Formats: sequence, structure tokens, C-alpha cells
Amino acid sequence: MSKTQPNIIQVTNLTKKYGDLIAVDSVSFNVAEGAIFAFLGPNGAGKSTTIKMLTTVLTPTSGKIVINGYDPILKQDLVRKSFGIVFQDPSLDDELTALENMQLHAVLYQLPRSLSQHRIEELLEFVHLADRKNNLVKTFSGGMKRRLEIARGLLHHPKILFLDEPTLGLDPQTRQSLWSYLQSVNKAEKMTVFFTTHYMEEAEKIAHHIAIIDQGKIISQGTAVNLKDQTKTTSLEEAFLKLTGNNIREEEASGVDRMRMRSRVWGGRR
Ligand code: ADP
Repeated sequence: MSKTQPNIIQVTNLTKKYGDLIAVDSVSFNVAEGAIFAFLGPNGAGKSTTIKMLTTVLTPTSGKIVINGYDPILKQDLVRKSFGIVFQDPSLDDELTALENMQLHAVLYQLPRSLSQHRIEELLEFVHLADRKNNLVKTFSGGMKRRLEIARGLLHHPKILFLDEPTLGLDPQTRQSLWSYLQSVNKAEKMTVFFTTHYMEEAEKIAHHIAIIDQGKIISQGTAVNLKDQTKTTSLEEAFLKLTGNNIREEEASGVDRMRMRSRVWGGRR
């Protein structure tokens, strides 16, 4: 990748407050067009909040975002057409087949049927689901669902694909094949990939550029080599731990999860 690529994502002093809590604190970074960019950080660092602001789901408290030349607040539709997204939680319709899920997405994106039919076949082939296209998604494994979500995210030829922990809970074989799909589509379509992960070895292998966020602030960014040099470490995982410390950040639990945890701890007495 050449260094002269324009920045397809520009983030300047981006801030999001939830009441008194500053979830994202004056964050600035750029992502070059065609890059594979890893956005890393411990639990609660502000990654999802940032992705939500980049993808028009949340309005920033302050700061500036430019996605593919557009401001997500002023040009919401143009920004939405610029990216595809694969969420942490599967967002497929289990009661529909793989093909129907793809067709539904094509309708939502107003793709002409003449174009979408071919694209759907091509993408299902690409993620090795063509022979399962008429099966209900509820019969799919976790890896198959994630592959279908990626195919769906690519349907409208987005310039950017956002993936929030795309490999969470998948076995090493499936993780490896997902990254190889993403690398090939990044190359073939010059599509920018923006992802989060807790698997540091994946980021080290795949990402051209890495930003590390902690407690709402970007604490370092560069290539994996830059980050290792800067911290005098030999792996990205060590560099990450050196930069963010060893304190365990508990995963935020929703109200329902907290209730479940309580009933597990107290044997369901309360
Ligand atoms: P990450 O994705 O890095 O785990 P998040 O962006 O989800 O982090 O969260 C950043 C911080 O903002 C955390 O302290 C989290 O508890 C808080 N937060 C996230 N969403 C909300 C919300 N809707 N209301 C209040 N606080 C929130």
C-alpha cells in the first residue's frame, strides 16, 4: 500500500459523553483508503462507541468525522452507502434462508435486481455458502453465519467494511479463513477494512495500521512494527499489554446479564 492514498476516514477530536462519563475523549486518527486498520483496546475503552459514531448510529458530543468525503451527520444516506458493517451480535434473520437474507439486504439498499442477483451469487460463492443458499440460517454454524454476514456487508460494493470483533468465538480454522476472505476482498476491490479484535496475533498479521484506545483516548498508533519498537517488545500482544497495563477490565454486563450472574453466584435466591 502506498503512503499517498487519501484518507477515507478522518476523525478529529471526536468526543462522546454519556452524562458524566467520557466514553470517547478527543480522539483523532485517519485511515488511508484501501488500508486494513485495527482499532484495539481493552473492554470499555470506547471502541464500539467510536464505531457507532463512524457508522451514523450515534451522534458525537463534539469533534469531526469525515467518511468517504462526507459528514455522517449532514449526509447520513451517502455515508451509509459508503460502508458495510458486521456487528458483534449476528443480525441475520434466522427464519430466512441465506439467499433470502441477501435479497432482503439488496432491497434495503435499493440495488437493482438485475445487478444484485449476480452479485449475490458471486458473494455466496466467495464465502463458500453457494451450496447452502436455500437452507434456513438457523441451521448454520457460528462460522457460517459470520461468513454470510460478511457476504451481506459486501453486497452494495461498500468502500469501507467495519467489523466489530468479527472472529469472536470462532475456531482457529474459521478465523483464518475469514481473514483470508477479507484480505482478498481488500486487495481485489481496494476496500478499506476497519476492525476490532481482542486477538492481538490477528491484528499483528493482518493490519497495515493499528490504533490503540484506552479509557477513551488513543494512546498509540502506527504499524505493528512501530508499536513493538516503541515499547521494545517482540509481539503486538506484549506491546499492547505494556501500553494498556495488566489490570483486568471487566466486560460490561447488561442488566439482564447482571441478573443472570447474580442468580448464578447466589444460586438464584435473589
Ligand atoms: P468497548 O467497545 O471498547 O468495550 P464501549 O464503547 O462499549 O467500549 O464503552 C466505552 C465506555 O462507555 C464504557 O465505560 C461503557 O460502560 C460506556 N458506555 C457505552 N455505552 C453506553 C451507554 N449507552 N450509556 C452509558 N455508558 C455507556
